[in-house]
Amino acid sequence: MKKCSECSGLMKEMTGQTTEGVSYSYYQCRKCGEEILSREQLHTVATKYRVMKNYRVRLTRWGLSLGMRFPKEITEKYGLRDNEEVTIIPEEEGLKVIPA
Ligand SMILES: [Zn+2]
Repeated sequence: MKKCSECSGLMKEMTGQTTEGVSYSYYQCRKCGEEILSREQLHTVATKYRVMKNYRVRLTRWGLSLGMRFPKEITEKYGLRDNEEVTIIPEEEGLKVIPA
């Protein structure tokens, strides 16, 4: 069992999620609430970020609206088809697109 460096209380492994939706685990002290990431936990979350791919696409005018192209890799991964309807959900950090 891991011990807290602040109060030497016992530390419990917990799981959290970053704002990008990446899950990670960390240790939290049961006594004082101190939270730390071990070297392995840090490495795991860093690796997840490295494999997370970013897609940069250009918006194009379509009448009064703007159109966005989804890269082929994305359409295949999420099973999106031509003429399919999706729902755009505005969120604080950006937009979320889910099948309608
Ligand atoms: Zn502590």
